[in-house]
Amino acid sequence: LQAELARLKVPRYVRVNVLKTCVDDVVEFFKRQGYSFLGKAGSLEELRTLSGKKFILDLHLPELLVFPPQTDFHDNRLYTSGHIILQDKASCLPAFLLSPAAGSHVIDACAAPGNKTSHLAAVLKNKGHIFAFDLDTKRLATMNTMLMRAGVTSCKLAQQDFLSVDPHDPKYSKVKYILLDPSCSGSGMVTRLPLEEAAPSAERLQALAGFQRKVLSHALRFPAVQRLIYSTCSVHREENEDVVHTVLQEPGLAFR
Ligand code: SAM
Repeated sequence: LQAELARLKVPRYVRVNVLKTCVDDVVEFFKRQGYSFLGKAGSLEELRTLSGKKFILDLHLPELLVFPPQTDFHDNRLYTSGHIILQDKASCLPAFLLSPAAGSHVIDACAAPGNKTSHLAAVLKNKGHIFAFDLDTKRLATMNTMLMRAGVTSCKLAQQDFLSVDPHDPKYSKVKYILLDPSCSGSGMVTRLPLEEAAPSAERLQALAGFQRKVLSHALRFPAVQRLIYSTCSVHREENEDVVHTVLQEPGLAFR
């Protein structure tokens, strides 16, 4: 896998977990480990051409450090202690864009294994409340361990079909933000490229899009919701723009 990522020149992204540490301390740690820090990137080209023992701060996300493609930190002390999260930039965008204010109530509708949930908790500074749902027991177990390691205390995990969660339950009356990252074809994941090999059949795309429309429509029925981020790991329009476009045309939805 590392060799394949190196060939594709995908950098190793490292999200600093601000629930446990801060960017400056992590930068100092890696400097002590022999890395040189290049400061904040000025262009995407600088991320693409990183090599050797160098690292840089991402130009869009303030808590994201970028290392050369072949870097492996799975055994690194900062990773095993939850001070850093190995999370691709694309996967950091949803919580960053949802940007819930500290203290808010948030739903993470399809949450496991929980990288985005832990990022949400960091954005919330562990203040407020995250209601996280998933169906898959095994993924939820992994998520539990991960959230504990990351120091997340503001999240309640439930093994439940999100479609069966009642939007009018008073528990959710203050939910202003929803992150919806539903099951998808995964056709945009770098590890599944080249694209031709990852191409899902038309039937599979249709079935996935049907589910995605259903969960999106359901999520938008929570009475206090003001902002929702819909994200997938798919490059197929059928699972992305088409889903959003279709759901926004449903009667009774006043979202832009
Ligand atoms: N957001 C996660 C993260 O960043 O780590 C990844 C989520 S993954 C793309 C989609 C998840 O949706 C899977 O874990 C799957 O078990 C879950 N899922 C599928 N159908 C669901 C449903 N009806 N209700 C809740 N979760 C569901």
